[in-house]
Amino acid sequence: MKKQLKMNSLKKNWFTEDCEMWPGGTFSVEVKEVLYSEQSDYQEITVFDTTKFGKVLVLDGIIQCTEKDEFAYQESIAFLPLCLHKNPEKVLIVGGGDGGVAREVAKHPQVKEILQVEIDEKVIEVSKKYLPFLAVGFESPKLKLHIGDGFEFMLNHKNEFDVIITDSSDPVGPAVSLFRDHYFQLMKSALKPNGIICSQAGTVWNDLDLVSNILNICKKQFPKAAYAYASVPTYPSGQIGFVIGSLDNDIVFDKPERVFTEEDEKEMKLRYYSSEIHKAAFVLPTFVRQHLAKN
Ligand code: SAM
Repeated sequence: MKKQLKMNSLKKNWFTEDCEMWPGGTFSVEVKEVLYSEQSDYQEITVFDTTKFGKVLVLDGIIQCTEKDEFAYQESIAFLPLCLHKNPEKVLIVGGGDGGVAREVAKHPQVKEILQVEIDEKVIEVSKKYLPFLAVGFESPKLKLHIGDGFEFMLNHKNEFDVIITDSSDPVGPAVSLFRDHYFQLMKSALKPNGIICSQAGTVWNDLDLVSNILNICKKQFPKAAYAYASVPTYPSGQIGFVIGSLDNDIVFDKPERVFTEEDEKEMKLRYYSSEIHKAAFVLPTFVRQHLAKN
């Protein structure tokens, strides 16, 4: 080990996630080398290299992304909402300090302008140094970066964005405010007519109540709302979901407005998202569909 990992979750070169949000079962990866581990003003930031998943970013002991499977998350959270909008010219990203979501949003041919608000400058700095395959997103000429709190930012922006993507950490630490009613209300007023939001919204195997809570918060503000998911092996229970809220009453969530051809997929270097995956992302397992309908 090059650097001393501050977390106590590293035993015999195995890092184990330890979070009160998923008691009773957890995920481990074998670590080759700890590349960075420091406390920023907001969270403990760690990057390590692993035997199976490549470089891994960990915030406060929770895996945020790994080199092996990050594209499944970044492409889904970006293209599900972007492809549902008729003309997503101006996009806001909240969080996303590793740069992966900006990397994907910038690829969309209709996107002209991207604003990103990340609270922790250190995450950006560390990602640029150790995770360049993600931080390449910060090089897009379409992107303007703002360091600050996403909630505070939203208070001062009205009627401005076509799409808002919240790529936040889980609802512990600095991201708690991004899962509240008030935040969804503010996002709604920051959207232009027919605007769309997409927020990271937890996993169905670990905490179905959390998923239904976030979906219900979204439904209170948006006339149309749905939960979609992607398969990401290094998230708790191998799955991650998103709530999508739309001001467009005519939206059909599983029917993208923008359909990518196989040519587009190659040109945009897509590895997970396709128009078929888009449709499938909204098909929920029976126990999930039934739970969300009841709660
Ligand atoms: N894909 C990841 C996941 O779900 O595990 C999340 C990516 S991580 C880069 C999330 C980012 O959100 C972090 O860089 C964190 O600093 C940022 N963040 C957390 N709370 C925030 C807030 N209130 N405003 C802006 N950014 C925030």
